[in-house]
Amino acid sequence: MPGDDGNAARIAQDARQALEICNACRYCDGYCAVFRALRSRRELSAADLSFLSNLCHNCRACYHACQYAPPHPFDVNIPKSLSLVRQRTYRDHAWPALPGGRVRHTGRFAMAVTLSMVAVLSVPALLWLPPEQVLGRHSGAGAFYRVLPWSLIAGLAGLTLLWSLLSVGFSVAAFWRSMGPVPPGAATGPALRDALWDIASLRNLGGGGVGCNDRDDRFSQARRRFHHALSYGFALCFAATAVATVYDHVLGWQAPYPVFSLPVLLGSLGGAGMMAGTAGLAWLKRHADPGPVAAELLGADLALLAQLFLIATSGFALLALRETAAMGPLLLIHLGVVLGFFATLPCGKFLHAPFRAAALLRWALERQEQRRKEPPSP
Ligand code: SF4
Ligand code: SF4
Repeated sequence: MPGDDGNAARIAQDARQALEICNACRYCDGYCAVFRALRSRRELSAADLSFLSNLCHNCRACYHACQYAPPHPFDVNIPKSLSLVRQRTYRDHAWPALPGGRVRHTGRFAMAVTLSMVAVLSVPALLWLPPEQVLGRHSGAGAFYRVLPWSLIAGLAGLTLLWSLLSVGFSVAAFWRSMGPVPPGAATGPALRDALWDIASLRNLGGGGVGCNDRDDRFSQARRRFHHALSYGFALCFAATAVATVYDHVLGWQAPYPVFSLPVLLGSLGGAGMMAGTAGLAWLKRHADPGPVAAELLGADLALLAQLFLIATSGFALLALRETAAMGPLLLIHLGVVLGFFATLPCGKFLHAPFRAAALLRWALERQEQRRKEPPSP
C-alpha cells in the first residue's frame, strides 16, 4: 500500500529528526537507556530506529523535561515518535508476512477475534450438545471434561498457542536481525544477566529512578507497579497451568482441584494480580496526559488489557461457580477468551514484551562491549 509506505517513511523521518536534536542536546542522558544508546549513534539508520524505539519504555519523562517539546517549533516528542516507530516494527517483522497487516495490528481486530472464539465454541456447544452436558451440574474429578473432552480443550489451546509462539518467535528473530550484527567481543553471559534484570525490574520505566509522567509532570511509580502486578500475575497463572498439567498427566489427579491446592492458589494469586494490573493500567491510559501519547495506538493497548482482564475474571467466575449449572457456559467463555488471546499474540500489543526484551538484550551486549573497550584504570 503506497500510502502506508509513505506514512512509514514520515514516521521514521520525524523520529530521526527528533533524535538528532536530542543527540545535540543530551539533557535527558540520565533518564533511560535510549539516550545512553544514542550517544554512539550519530547517523541514525533504520536499524537504529528499530532498536531505540523498542528500548523506549514510554515513561514520558523526556517529554516533560524537554524545552523543545510542543508548542516549541522543533516539536520534539520522543515518546510519541518512538511509539509510532515501535508499532511499525511489529508489522514490518511479522511472520508470516500476510496482507492486511494494518488491520491485524489494531485493537478492534484483537477483540473481534476474541469474541469470535467465544462464539465459535459456545454456539455449536449450546445448539448441538445435549443440554445436560453443557448446562448440567458436574462435580468431582474430571468435571470440566464432562462438558468438553480433555483432548478437544488441550488440542485447541495447544495448537493455537504453538502456532502463535512459532509466529512470535520468527517475528522476534527477524527483529533481532534488523538491529544489525551483535558487537563482536561482548560477553554473552553477563549481558544476559543484565538484560534479565532490566526486564524483571522494568528499570527503564523509572524515568531515571523517580517514576513515569503518565498524567502530568509529577513523577509516579503507579505504572511500574501495575505493570509488575500484571506480568507477575500472568507468570503465576502460567505456573498454575504447568502445575495442573503435572498433577493431571504425571500424578493422575484430574481438575478441578480443591481451593487450597497449589494450582488454585497460584492461579488465584496470579488472577488477582492480573485484574489489579490491567484495571490500573487501563485507568492510567484513560487519564493520561494526551500530549506524548500516540492516540491511534491506544485501541491496541486497551484491547490487550481487556483480553487479560477477561481471562482473569472468567477464570475467577469459573472457580466460584464450578459446582453449579453455570460451570459449562463459563468454561466455554473462559476457553474462548484464552483462545482469542493466544490467536492474537503475533499481531497484538503483546509483541511489545518480546521485542523490548530483545532490545534490552541488545543494549546489554553493547554495554558489555563498551566496558571491554574501556582502558583499565591506572
Ligand atoms: S528530549 Fe528534549 S531535552 Fe531531552 S535530550 Fe531530547 S531535545 Fe534534549
Ligand atoms: S523511556 Fe522514557 S525517557 Fe526514555 S525515551 Fe522513552 S519516554 Fe523518553
